Amino acid sequence: MKAGKIDEHSFIQKLGPDTRIVVLTGAGISAESGIPTFRDAQDGLWSQFRPEELASPEGFRANPKLVFDWYAWRRKKVLESKPNKGHEILALWGQQFPHMTLITQNVDGLHQAAGSQDLIEMHGSIHRLICFKERHPSPWVAAKDGVPLCMRCQSPLRPDVVWFGEMLDRRILEHIGKALANCEVFLAIGTSGLVYPAAGFLDEARASGALTVVINRERVGEDRCDLLLQGSASDILQRLQDSIQARHVFKVSSRAR
Ligand code: NAD
Repeated sequence: MKAGKIDEHSFIQKLGPDTRIVVLTGAGISAESGIPTFRDAQDGLWSQFRPEELASPEGFRANPKLVFDWYAWRRKKVLESKPNKGHEILALWGQQFPHMTLITQNVDGLHQAAGSQDLIEMHGSIHRLICFKERHPSPWVAAKDGVPLCMRCQSPLRPDVVWFGEMLDRRILEHIGKALANCEVFLAIGTSGLVYPAAGFLDEARASGALTVVINRERVGEDRCDLLLQGSASDILQRLQDSIQARHVFKVSSRAR
């Protein structure tokens, strides 16, 4: 498939049951479930802190309790929320498009809650803990006076997420690299394109000849993608799903309608 500006109708026409698609989601897809994006999470209670102070090994070393409490606050918000239409449609696409790879930068677990399987959580999950020293896994434990400690090595427990300055799992990156090299369509939804390596996926897919589409409230990546669909992720995904369904080429009946 050749890169170049296209319209929404032409994009829909390219999609069939055998299309190899990579979807990358960011905080924007969960915004409509009430989960703050990083920018929003800087409002109110946490506004005096920079993300690097709250989401980095240095930040945790300097003030483990502050960091743990911030994640506990975010996790509570997630537990109080539900997947939205956007998550549900992507779960349906996982069945409609057997060759779709869904990658999320989100740590909230809302894609799984909507029924997505084979999801790549490239930045980990807010629902799991690991210890700071040895990365021993632990179920979630609430903090009391300080930070909970690892049962095995007594090192402080932290969320099992990838922080600023940390490396991503090599096997996950290899898996993503193969999917990007092979895909025919790349779709980035609700991501600012500021956090690497995810920010480079669009260019990688494009270099492999994929059609690149961005869904965002803002005019993000307009000069780099073939199609920018500006607006709410769930509204646009619903519109795309309606058009896909109108073509009657898929066997799976929609439960997202
Ligand atoms: P980001 O906060 O940098 O950007 C969010 C993007 O979503 C923005 O471009 C914004 O314009 C767009 N957006 C907001 N609401 C939208 C909507 N309703 N529809 C469509 N687009 C919308 O988020 P990012 O790019 O994912 O990167 C930030 C990092 O923060 C990631 O690494 C991620 O792990 C982490 N994070 C995760 C969560 C979560 O798990 N829900 C929340 C905040 C931050």
